[in-house]
Amino acid sequence: MEAPTMTDEHEHYEAVVVGAGPGGAAAAATLARNGVETVVLERGVDAGSKNVTGGLIYAEESAPYTIDGLLPGFREHATERPVTDYYIHNIAGEKVKTFDITQGHERDTEWADAVLRRKMDSWMAERVHELTRETGGGLLTGVKVNGLLRDNNEIVGVTCEELDPIEADFIVAADGVNSELARAAGLMDWEEPEEWFQGVKAVVDMPGDAINERFGIDDDEGEAHLFSGDLYDGVRGGGFLYTNESSLCIGNVFHLDSIVAEEAEVQELLDALLTHPLLAQWLGEEYDEREYSAKLVPDSKKAANPSPHEGRLVLVGDAGGQMQAQGPIIKGMNHAVTAGALAAEAFVEARSRGKPSTAGERYEQRLHDEGVMAKLRPMRYEVASAAGENDITTDLAERLLDSPLGRASVRAADTAGLLGRAYGSPYLASMMPDTKTPYVTLPTIIAEELGTRVADDNTIEPPSLGERIGELTYDTDVGNPHIVLEDDSVAASGAAVTACPVSAEGFGGGCYREETVQSNGDEERVVSLDTQPCVECGTCAVVADTQWEHPRGGKGVEFREG
Ligand SMILES: Cc1cc2nc3c(=O)[nH]c(=O)nc-3n(C[C@H](O)[C@H](O)[C@H](O)COP(=O)(O)OP(=O)(O)OC[C@H]3O[C@@H](n4cnc5c(N)ncnc54)[C@H](O)[C@@H]3O)c2cc1C
Ligand code: SF4
Repeated sequence: MEAPTMTDEHEHYEAVVVGAGPGGAAAAATLARNGVETVVLERGVDAGSKNVTGGLIYAEESAPYTIDGLLPGFREHATERPVTDYYIHNIAGEKVKTFDITQGHERDTEWADAVLRRKMDSWMAERVHELTRETGGGLLTGVKVNGLLRDNNEIVGVTCEELDPIEADFIVAADGVNSELARAAGLMDWEEPEEWFQGVKAVVDMPGDAINERFGIDDDEGEAHLFSGDLYDGVRGGGFLYTNESSLCIGNVFHLDSIVAEEAEVQELLDALLTHPLLAQWLGEEYDEREYSAKLVPDSKKAANPSPHEGRLVLVGDAGGQMQAQGPIIKGMNHAVTAGALAAEAFVEARSRGKPSTAGERYEQRLHDEGVMAKLRPMRYEVASAAGENDITTDLAERLLDSPLGRASVRAADTAGLLGRAYGSPYLASMMPDTKTPYVTLPTIIAEELGTRVADDNTIEPPSLGERIGELTYDTDVGNPHIVLEDDSVAASGAAVTACPVSAEGFGGGCYREETVQSNGDEERVVSLDTQPCVECGTCAVVADTQWEHPRGGKGVEFREG
C-alpha cells in the first residue's frame, strides 16, 4: 500500500503508542508519568483480546524496569499464581526423567507469575488510560494502525483504518510479532522461518482446589513444567504447563523452520503432549478446554534488531524481535516492558535537551548500556552457533550421544549431578545450538538411560480441530480478507496447510487446504485460503507467499483467555 503523505493538517500528539501489550503499556505509562501527551491505539476490541502468551511474566533483578514497578498493583490484580516450583521432563516413550530447575529459574528473578493475557492486558489498559488521559491523550481500542504517515519520506505519524492520520513527535511501534509498522519502515522482514518460533496452546479449565490437590500446592503457590524428547516427531522445541488460579496453560513452542521441514501438524503435537501418560496425574479424567490459540514468537538471537529505530519511530518488544528463548525458558513480556520504558525515557531525555529527534539513538544506546541487547543476542550463542550449527558437527554429536560411550557419559553426568545443574544454567542455555541435539536427541537419551516408566492411564480426549475452531469467537470482516494468497502453488504456499494451527491435511474446515484443479486439461495441486477461522498467529506471513496484514480494528478472532 502507498504510504500517505502529509499534505493536510492532522491531529497531533507528542507521542503515539501502537499496541497495548506489555511493551506498549510500559512505554505509555512512562511517557504519561513524564507529562508527555500520549495516545495509545489498540486494534483489539479490548486490550488482550488479540494476545497469546505461555505465559510466565518475569521481573528480573538485573532489569532497569519491572511491570509492577511501572504499574503498582500489577501482581495483585493482573496475574494468576507465582511460580514456586519449576521442573523439566525428558521424555522417551513412556519413560520420563525429571529435573528440578527451580534454582536456575530463580537466578536473576525477583518474581515470576503465570498470566492470562485478556485479564492482564485489560487491567494494564485501564491504568494506562487513566495515566494518558491526564496528559490530554488516552487509550483507544478497536483502532488498527495500518501504515506510517510520511512527509518528504520522513516518518511523521501513523495512519489508521478507523481514524484520520495522526502526527506525532515520537512513535512507539509496540504492535507485537508481525509488526506491520516495523515492516513498513524496513526495520524487520518476514522472510526466514529460522528466525521465528510458533507457539500453540490450550487453556484448560480446572477448579483451584483441584489444582492445589493434584500439584500439591497452596493457593499462593504455582508450578511450571517443561517437556522435551521424542513426543514431537523430531520437531525442535518443547512443551510447557503452567498453573493459573483456576486453569492450566498447556502448549508447545517450536522452531518454525522445523515445523515446516517435518511437515508437522501442530495441533496434533499439542495433543501428543496432552495425552501423554505423564499428564494424567494433573488432568484427571475430565478435560474441559476453554480456549485454543496460537501466535508466532520471534527468536531474538536471530531476529532482534540491534538498531530498532528510524526517524521518529522506535520498535519495542516483539515488534523489534526482542523475545529471548533462554534455552527452555521464554522471556518476551519482561523485555517488552523494559524496552518500552527505555524508549519512553529516551524520548523524555531527548525532548528535555531540545532534540526529540535523537530519541531513537538514545533508545538504542540504553538497550545496549542496560545489558538488554546482550541478553537478546548473546555473544556466546554467536560463537557456539558458528561452531555447532552445521550438519557435520550435529551428525557427530548425534552419533556420539547415541553410542555406548555417549550413553555411559549421560549416566555418569547424572551421577555427578551435572545434568540437573546444566539444565538450570542460564549461561549454558544461552549457548544452546539450534539443532535436534538439545531439543530431541539428548532429552530422549536421558529419558531412555535414566527415566522411570510412567504407567498412568491418560484417558482424556482433546477436542478435534473443528471443535476447537467452533469454540472461538470471531467477528469476521465479510468480503474483506486480511490475508491474500499471492502464489497458490504448493511449492510457494503448501507449507501453510500443516503449519497453520487451524488447518490440517484432509481437514476441510480450516484456513488452508490443498486441492486439485484442472488447468489446460492437466490436473494441478494448488492451495486455497479461507481467512474466516484465522487465529492471526502470523505463520503464513512467513511460510507462504501472501499479502499479509492484521484484520481491521475489532475484527477477527477474539481471545477470552490468551
Ligand atoms: C505460546 C507462547 C508462549 C509464550 N510464553 C512466554 C512466557 O512464558 N514468558 C514470556 O515472557 N513471554 C512468552 N511469550 C512471548 C510473549 O507473549 C511476547 O514476547 C510478548 O507478548 C511481547 O509483548 P509486546 O508488547 O511486544 O507485544 P504483544 O503482547 O503481542 O502486544 C502487541 C499489541 O499490539 C496490538 N496491535 C498489533 N498490531 C496493531 C496495529 N496495527 N494497530 C493497533 N494495535 C495493534 C495487538 O493487538 C497487541 O495488543 C510466549 C508467546 C507465545 C505465543
Ligand atoms: S491463516 Fe495464517 S495467520 Fe491465520 S491462523 Fe493460519 S497460519 Fe495463522
